[in-house]
Amino acid sequence: MDFQLTAEQKRIVETLDELGRKEFAPKAARWDENHEYPWENLHLLRELGFLGMTIPEAYGGQGRPLLDAILAIETAAKYCGVTARILVETNMGALGCVMAYGTEEQRKLVAHRILEEGDKPAIGMTEPEAGTALTDLRATAEKRGDRYVVNGMKCWITGGTISVTNLIFARFIEDGQDRGIGGVLVDKGTPGFTFGTVEKAMGLRGIPEAELIFEDCEIPAENVVVQGEGSEGFKKLMYGYNGQRVGASAVALGLAQGAHDLAVAWMKKREAFGRPISDFQGLQWIMAEGEVHLNAARLLIYRAACNARMLPNNVMLPYMDEASMAKYYTGHVALEVVSESLQMHGAYGYSQSLPLERMFRDVRMFQIGGGTSQAQLNMLARSVFKRKFGFRKEA
Ligand SMILES: Cc1cc2nc3c(=O)[nH]c(=O)nc-3n(C[C@H](O)[C@H](O)[C@H](O)COP(=O)(O)OP(=O)(O)OC[C@H]3O[C@@H](n4cnc5c(N)ncnc54)[C@H](O)[C@@H]3O)c2cc1C
Repeated sequence: MDFQLTAEQKRIVETLDELGRKEFAPKAARWDENHEYPWENLHLLRELGFLGMTIPEAYGGQGRPLLDAILAIETAAKYCGVTARILVETNMGALGCVMAYGTEEQRKLVAHRILEEGDKPAIGMTEPEAGTALTDLRATAEKRGDRYVVNGMKCWITGGTISVTNLIFARFIEDGQDRGIGGVLVDKGTPGFTFGTVEKAMGLRGIPEAELIFEDCEIPAENVVVQGEGSEGFKKLMYGYNGQRVGASAVALGLAQGAHDLAVAWMKKREAFGRPISDFQGLQWIMAEGEVHLNAARLLIYRAACNARMLPNNVMLPYMDEASMAKYYTGHVALEVVSESLQMHGAYGYSQSLPLERMFRDVRMFQIGGGTSQAQLNMLARSVFKRKFGFRKEA
C-alpha cells in the first residue's frame, strides 16, 4: 500500500490550489448570491484539461485514474463547492453510466460534448414520489417501433436546465408490459422535454436544481443506454452511479478542509483574554479531532477511488460498499468540521462577510443528494448481514 501521490498528482493539486485561491475563492459568493452558474470557471477548467480527465484516450480524453479527478475535486472544493461539482458532473455521474454501459456512438458523443463543448451531463433519477424509494419511479419510456416515447417528471436534477445531455431513469414499457427500469439519453431541446420549478435551495446555489418534464417526448432507440431488463438495468445504473458518490464525497471533504484551514488561520490571529484563541486547549482539541475526521474521510475516499474496478472500455467504477462508506462518513464528519470551524469564528462565522456560512449551507447537502446517509447505511447493512432487507409495507 503506497500513500504517496505521484509527481503528476501533486501537480494537479498545486494547479487547482492556485486556481482556487486566485480564481474560485474571490467569486464563490457571487454564484451563491446571484444563483449564477460559474460558466467562466467551467471554461477555465475545460481549457486546462480538467473536464472529463477520466475519459479514456480512445474517446479523446486523458484516461486518468479516478484518484486524479478526486484530487482535483477535493482541492477545488476548498475554495468553491459549485465549481468542484462541475468536475464531479464531468468526470463521473451520467458519464460513468454511459461509458460503462452505453453504445460506442453514445460514448463518443458524450465525451465530445464534455471535452469540446463543456457540457455537464445531468442524471435524472429522482421524482416527487420516488427519492430513496427510487424503484417506485413512474417515468416511462415506451417502445413504439424504432422509437421510445418518454413521459413523466424528474425533480432536483442538478444542472437540469443547463445540461445538453440528460440521462433519464425510466420504466421501460414494451407491448404494454413493464420491463423494468433502464436509462435513456434525452437532449435538451428535444420536443416534449421542458423544465418546471427550479428549487430555491439552501446551498450550492450556483447550480440549478430543476424539474424536468417529459410529455410524449420521442427519442430514437439509439438513445437507450441501459435497457429495462427486469432488475438488471437498475442494478447497472446504480453501479454506474458509484463514481458520482465518491466524487460528491470529495466535494464535502474539500469544503470541510477549506473551512478547517480558515479556522486554523483565524485562531492564530484572533485574541480573547489577551491571547490567541488557539492557546485554549478546549479549542485545540476540537481542531485536532477535526484533523482526524478529515484524514479518515480522505482515506475512505482515496481507497474507493484507487480500488475502482476496471470495466470494459477502460472505465473505472468504484465498488458500492466502498463508495457508500466514503459518502456516509464524509457527509457526516464534513458537516461537523465546517460547523466547528464556523464556531471558531464566533459571530463573524455567522456573517456573509466570511465564506463559513456559505460552506455550512453547501456542505449540508452531502447527507441528502446522491442517496441520503440513511440510504448508504441501508446498503452497507446488506453487506454486513449478507442479506437484503425489504422496506415495503406488506399489502
Ligand atoms: C442539492 C441536491 C441535488 C440533487 N441532485 C440530484 C440529481 O442530480 N439527480 C437526481 O436524480 N436526484 C438528485 N437529488 C435528489 C436526491 O437524490 C434525493 O433527495 C435523495 O435520494 C432523497 O430522496 P427524497 O428527498 O425524496 O427523500 P425521501 O426518500 O422522502 O426520504 C426522507 C427521509 O427518510 C429517510 N428514509 C427513507 N427511506 C428510508 C429507509 N428505508 N430507511 C431509513 N431511512 C429512510 C431518508 O434518508 C430521508 O432522511 C438531489 C437532491 C439535492 C438536495
